[in-house]
Amino acid sequence: MSSFDFDLFVIGGGSGGVRAARMAAGRGARVALAETLGTDGLGGTCVNVGCIPKKLYSYAAHYHDAFNESRGFGWELDGAPTFNWSTLKANRAKEIGRLNGVYANLLRGSGVTVLNGFARIDGPHALTVATLNADGTPGHQSFTAANILIATGGTPFVPHFTGREHVITSNEVFDLEPFPQRLLVVGGGYIACEFASIFNGLGAKVTQLYRGEQVLRGFDDEIRHFVAGEMVKTGVDLRLNADVVDVRKTDEGLHVECEGGNTVMADAVLYATGRKPNVQGLGLEAVGVAQGAQGEVMVDEHYRTNVPSIWAVGDVTNRVQLTPVALGEAMVVVDQLFGPAPGKTPRSMGYEFIPTAVFTHPSIGTVGYSEAQAREKFGAVTVFRSEFKALRHTLSGSSERTLMKLIVDTASDRVVGLHMVGAEAGEIVQGFAVAMKAGATKAVFDSTIGIHPTAAEEFVTMREPVKS
Ligand SMILES: Cc1cc2nc3c(=O)[nH]c(=O)nc-3n(C[C@H](O)[C@H](O)[C@H](O)COP(=O)(O)OP(=O)(O)OC[C@H]3O[C@@H](n4cnc5c(N)ncnc54)[C@H](O)[C@@H]3O)c2cc1C
Repeated sequence: MSSFDFDLFVIGGGSGGVRAARMAAGRGARVALAETLGTDGLGGTCVNVGCIPKKLYSYAAHYHDAFNESRGFGWELDGAPTFNWSTLKANRAKEIGRLNGVYANLLRGSGVTVLNGFARIDGPHALTVATLNADGTPGHQSFTAANILIATGGTPFVPHFTGREHVITSNEVFDLEPFPQRLLVVGGGYIACEFASIFNGLGAKVTQLYRGEQVLRGFDDEIRHFVAGEMVKTGVDLRLNADVVDVRKTDEGLHVECEGGNTVMADAVLYATGRKPNVQGLGLEAVGVAQGAQGEVMVDEHYRTNVPSIWAVGDVTNRVQLTPVALGEAMVVVDQLFGPAPGKTPRSMGYEFIPTAVFTHPSIGTVGYSEAQAREKFGAVTVFRSEFKALRHTLSGSSERTLMKLIVDTASDRVVGLHMVGAEAGEIVQGFAVAMKAGATKAVFDSTIGIHPTAAEEFVTMREPVKS
């Protein structure tokens, strides 16, 4: 046994940290995990203020359409259904509390020592955790560890402008009080678009401002334009090439002045303008851990920093900021440190075909290259496209449309991009991602029998290219 207090000390109890701690302990390592927010924060961003509460709120927002659309199927509702924001918030908080407890039990059950407090790195093998003494006064505990894993995630970034103190971020939006009848969302990334759709569905009058030409930079251009159009159809007042100059509090609400002199009145202003790595106060400079321009921790392909005993995974490395990516990276570190699971080889992470969803209304599901990226990488590509009204909407009265797109590398016939805007896009694209990781060609797609009647069958029945 080493002379260190622990074999692995994990800083941060989010997606990456919990996974690494649990798996390392399962391999027989002596593991500690420090979480600033204590056991209430276990699960990190995803569980507390990210993926999970957001998806729950997205489900809530979908009922708005479901009630309206049910009439076309013969349902008669007595009066207009009403929405109770307090009930949603309370039920969400209860479920998140349950999940925090599940994480705490999983860690304790695996033998991980869980510490409540902010951890700082003092040296390649030394840490201090700021804790509270029994009498409630601030205290601290020092530890040594053979290896340290930084899994501290990220935090919302809000630029400087007059009135910045009046705006909120995704951290606060879930518990907003009262419900914002008028919400201004600033930003064009997936988080901004999702909250615009969610609050629009819940009944708020939503304005979304984005300073760029189109929302969702990095996604396939056609998908971006299509989903933006669908969001506008649902009622989101999307204003592109627009930015905030200042925000002032008035008796009528928040008065937001935009570039060019336009103004917006809102009850709440949500800034979703990017995230930055959580590295403040970690002690990285003193220990000499190399950082990038945004403060992100620099790592090699095994997530080891330039200080050999210090590793980093997840959002703090500012690569692909998704929970399943943080989980995958954590497994690579555990395999490197403590060996792979019995009978397995050490894992590695591939970033090429990571599927992802955007829970806008309608949602996006995507895997692989956008059309522009594919042209750049492969040269000649063949594009297949299908746009239609989903069967459900033949009776629902909704004008929502679905778009599906396949990008094929012409030389190899391999499907290298698959994109969709429509209901349950994430659920549909997950399965296709497996086929694409396995190198499926368009010929394989063509020889696959569809499931009828579904929207997903379109992906295996597109025969005529629209572009090559
Ligand atoms: C609104 C929103 C929606 C999202 N939706 C999705 C989605 O639908 N799908 C998806 O895959 N991803 C989604 N994400 C991204 C996902 O939440 C993150 O990629 C993921 O949580 C990253 O995990 P992590 O382990 O790197 O960090 P985190 O989960 O952020 O965990 C870091 C933890 O470290 C703690 N910590 C920080 N510093 C210290 C310290 N010095 N000492 C002790 N503890 C510390 C923090 O309190 C936090 O609990 C969303 C994010 C947001 C903000």
